[in-house]
Amino acid sequence: MKIIDGKATAAEIKSEIAKEVAEMIDIGKDVPHLAAILIGNDPASQTYVSGKEKSCKEVGFISSLYKFPADISEKELIKVVDFINKDDEINGLIVQLPLPDHINVNKIIESIDPSKDVDGFHPLNVGKMVLNLPTYLPATPYGILQLFERYNIETVGKNCVVLGRSNIVGTPISILMSRKAYPGNCTVTVCHSKTKNLEKICRSADILIAAIGTPGFVTADMVKKDAVVIDVGIHRVKSTVTKSGYKLVGDVKFDEVSKKCSYITPVPGGVGPMTIVSLLRNTLKAAKKEVYK
Ligand code: NAP
Repeated sequence: MKIIDGKATAAEIKSEIAKEVAEMIDIGKDVPHLAAILIGNDPASQTYVSGKEKSCKEVGFISSLYKFPADISEKELIKVVDFINKDDEINGLIVQLPLPDHINVNKIIESIDPSKDVDGFHPLNVGKMVLNLPTYLPATPYGILQLFERYNIETVGKNCVVLGRSNIVGTPISILMSRKAYPGNCTVTVCHSKTKNLEKICRSADILIAAIGTPGFVTADMVKKDAVVIDVGIHRVKSTVTKSGYKLVGDVKFDEVSKKCSYITPVPGGVGPMTIVSLLRNTLKAAKKEVYK
C-alpha cells in the first residue's frame, strides 16, 4: 500500500507556482491577485480564508479580503461582486461558502465574472468542464486529478465509484473521471443517500472516491483488494490521544482500509492541501489569461 502524500505534492506544486510568479515579475508582468469575500463569523470559513491568504503570500500572489457582517443584503453583496468584477487589477474572486440563509448562493455565484471565477462554480465554467473545454476546474476535484497525475495512477477503463453528489465535490469529480481524458476514461457510478446496495457497488470500485461527509463511513469490507481510495472527508472528532482533545479524520476508516488498498489519501495531509493549491493554479491561469483572453 502506498500513501498519497497530498501535503508534499502541494508543497511541490506551490514551489512551481512561486517560480512562475518570480519569472512573471522578472519580465515585468503583474503579480496574480486573488480577492476573497467573507461573510459573517463562521470559524471554519475564517480558517479556510486565512489559509488561502497565507498560501497566496507563500507563492508571491497579492490577496485581498473583503469582510462583511452576516446581515449584509443580497443586493449589497452583488454590488461588491460587481465592483470586484470591474477591478482590472484583480484576477480571481472567491466567495467563501456557506452564505447566510437569506442570500441565494446561486445568484451570487452567477454574479461573478466567469473569467474571475477561480472556484469554478459559475454555470458557464461548469458547462465548459462537462464539455472538456479549457476552464477553471473546481478546486477539490482538480486537486484529486493532480494527485492521480503526480502518482502516475492508471485510470483508463477502471470502475470508479464516487460517494456523494455535491456541487463542489461529488458531481464534478464524477464528470471529470468519466471524461475522455487522463485522468479520466473511467466507468463512473455515483452514490448518494437514495442509493441501494451501496456496499456492493463500493466493492466493485477500482477507484473509490469518498465525499459523503460521515466520519469513518467506508470500512474495509466495502473496499476491493488493491483499490485506489481517495478520502475527501474532513471531520474534527474527539480524541483521548492528542493534546488538543481533537483529531481530524476522513470519510474512510484509514487503519483498516489502508491494509487492503493499493493507494490511499490520509486525513489530514491528503486531498485537503491540494484544494488550496488548485485555487492558486486557477488564479495563475486567470492572471495569464489562459482560459478567457
Ligand atoms: P455534502 O454537500 O454534505 O454532500 C454529501 C453527499 O453525500 C450528498 O450527495 C449525500 O446524498 C451523500 N450522502 C450523505 N450520507 C449518505 C449515506 N449515508 N449514504 C449515501 N450517500 C450519502 O458534502 P460535500 O460538501 O461534498 O463534502 C463531503 C465531505 O468532504 C465533508 O466531510 C467535507 O467536509 C469534505 N470536504 C473536504 C474538502 C477538502 O478540501 N478536503 C473540500 C470539500 C469538502 P444526497 O445528495 O442524497 O443528500
